[in-house]
Amino acid sequence: MGSDALLSVENLTTVFDVRPGPVVAVNDVSFEIRRGETLGLVGESGSGKSVTAFSLIRLVQSPGQITGGKVIFQGRDLLAATESEMRHVRGAGIGFVFQEPMAALNPVMRVGAHIAEALVVHGLASKADARTRAIELLRAVKITDAEKRVDDYPHQLSGGMRQRVMMAIALACKPPLVIADEPTTALDVTVQAQILDLLRDMKRQFDLSLLLITHDLGVIAETADRVAVMYAGRIVEQGPVREIFRNPAHPYTRGLLASIPGGSAGTRLTAIDGAVPNLGALPPGCSFGPRCREHMAVCDTAFPGVTPVGPDHAVRCYLNDPKAEGGRLKAGATN
Ligand code: ADP
Ligand code: MG
Repeated sequence: MGSDALLSVENLTTVFDVRPGPVVAVNDVSFEIRRGETLGLVGESGSGKSVTAFSLIRLVQSPGQITGGKVIFQGRDLLAATESEMRHVRGAGIGFVFQEPMAALNPVMRVGAHIAEALVVHGLASKADARTRAIELLRAVKITDAEKRVDDYPHQLSGGMRQRVMMAIALACKPPLVIADEPTTALDVTVQAQILDLLRDMKRQFDLSLLLITHDLGVIAETADRVAVMYAGRIVEQGPVREIFRNPAHPYTRGLLASIPGGSAGTRLTAIDGAVPNLGALPPGCSFGPRCREHMAVCDTAFPGVTPVGPDHAVRCYLNDPKAEGGRLKAGATN
């Protein structure tokens, strides 16, 4: 655990108590976000990324419940905080940007009122100052004609502009950490690139740490410092982006890398065969086992533990576990 961790998540587990049986959407998840860095959280749809994000700010929808773990933010465990402390953390400590800005914005509230509300709730501006601050924030997220746009309603804006407004709201209280959950997924490709540029720019300007959630490793390559790969509710590999792209250790990570369009010249887009399993009916052992081209007998016994495979790089896969039957280190590889 680095002392420079702004957020450190330890063994976080979130369960949806549904029929016919409980769904473990977030399963023993541990990672940290260091000051000033961008951590990418990547995985296919349904792997538990959004539930992880909502668990961090304690906004998991019923019947979901956090059943274990710790979320240490700026030195204290948010899972032990009171609801009123959490209201302060949301916004002033951790800002968030969602995939669908339209769902997060109130259709009958003007853009400026959304930003003003965030500022006034946290005691950072009087109603009189809030409008001026809102215009400044809209300028910061590069909305042209900010002094006019501040009086627009959400439906008067394009998707890209709405996402900029979401960022202005997220940044209003200058939180040290921003969680962006698929911030570009609902946007056109050209607008996606602009929003990613803006995220990088905001990170520098506002001195942020960022948790960037996406199903797209291409976005991670351009934006993140480190990456955590999520599969069926678990982090199966994490490490520095460059290291993960050069030496992916988990067959799932290798599959994701192979499916990046235009990843390397001449390669075909290869999707991973099969689909993410139903999180309420996981196979015994490694949940990726049934889709894994390198599946071994040991993979069906229990979920693999964490094996360090390089500097700051760890994986949960028997192929890399020297103690496992079939593990590569056992066969004499160095790592
Ligand atoms: P991702 O963001 O990676 O696409 P989510 O975190 O949204 O995935 O969801 C992970 C899993 O959690 C879903 O596949 C589903 O099994 C479960 N889940 C999420 N929300 C609910 C809910 N409201 N009720 C029951 N199960 C849910
Ligand atoms: Mg999601």
